[in-house]
Amino acid sequence: MRLLRDDALNSANARLGTRFWIYPQPPFIPGYEQPDRVWLSIPRDEIGEGPSDLFMYVADPLYDKRPYGLAGLPPFDGARRAPVRPGPDRHFDNIDPTSRPFLAIHAYACVRFVLDIWQSYLGRPIHWFFNQSFPRLEIIPFADWDNAQAGYGFLELGWSDVDGILRPYALNFDTIAHEVGHLIMLSETDVPTAISPDGDFFSFSEAFSDCVSLISFLHFDSAIDRLLRRTRGNLLLYNELNRFAETSPERQIRLATNFRQMSAVTHEVHDRALPFVGAIFDSIVAIYHRDLVANGCADSRLLDVDIRELARDEFDTFRQATADAFSIKPLYFKLALTAARDAVGAALATALRTLDPNTLRLDQAANAVIAAADGAVAELLEENFAWREIIGSR
Ligand SMILES: [Zn+2]
Repeated sequence: MRLLRDDALNSANARLGTRFWIYPQPPFIPGYEQPDRVWLSIPRDEIGEGPSDLFMYVADPLYDKRPYGLAGLPPFDGARRAPVRPGPDRHFDNIDPTSRPFLAIHAYACVRFVLDIWQSYLGRPIHWFFNQSFPRLEIIPFADWDNAQAGYGFLELGWSDVDGILRPYALNFDTIAHEVGHLIMLSETDVPTAISPDGDFFSFSEAFSDCVSLISFLHFDSAIDRLLRRTRGNLLLYNELNRFAETSPERQIRLATNFRQMSAVTHEVHDRALPFVGAIFDSIVAIYHRDLVANGCADSRLLDVDIRELARDEFDTFRQATADAFSIKPLYFKLALTAARDAVGAALATALRTLDPNTLRLDQAANAVIAAADGAVAELLEENFAWREIIGSR
């Protein structure tokens, strides 16, 4: 009887989810040396060694593996390292984050973390676009390659050369989240069969993937706390002055705080993606700010002025008022930022299904995101897409 009760308890505990460590930024970035402990929604009894589950698995090559390309596709059939096992409690947070096996766990955890977020926004599970051929995504945590890519049935991570030091992309949440963004987009819009030459499929893919990385990054409590403490809650004022771009250690934030408009970009896909990413970040900041004003945490006059035209002393007055409110009720700031993040994230996710990948243009994508958002959020998105010259002013 006693045994039976323990079993029932164990099985109920196993359904709670599974613990992992994730570095929100690569550990060589100052301020991000320590990983965050996260709970992934997947129950412990659904993860096997590797880690692996019904939806994905890690295959860690024993020898240097060349990247998949046109000639090669999963499954990886070479010699593999021993699959990583969980601890006795079946969580995966017992392995030294500086050890080689940790690369496999970290890559897996990042993919799952991002999927948890975007499946929540979509309200249903994501089905891989390649599931006719491969039921599961293969994750290669370390390939002998100075790059990372996601493709038909796989996500593989090489290394980056930072000042002569090789850093595995498996520890880079930003890179992994971006690649998962590509997989999510293709799984929702489906694979293009004949891309129109004046279409923006590739630029939008890059923009969407960068937004996935940015918004997923804002799901780490430690990241939101750092951002708000560093700016003392003044995202709007700092953003307008481009302070993030100068000083932010987070790549996602630096990228998203650009001031590019469509008239100033080239046809190179990453360059052409920048105004879209900027519009998304500006919208999150604008929604956040509107919420702060509604809660008496920021001066309402700020909603109507062009901040770039503020005199220095006015600017300081506004900034001090927000900083004072932040020191008294930081919780409101955090709630406002997470609500803004989720309003925009959900609109982005639900817009995907309405897009035709063959004829997709950035203005169509922007309009689809606006259409997927609620009233006031839609209005702010529209304003920001118009300022970026992605859509016309109405
Ligand atoms: Zn990309």
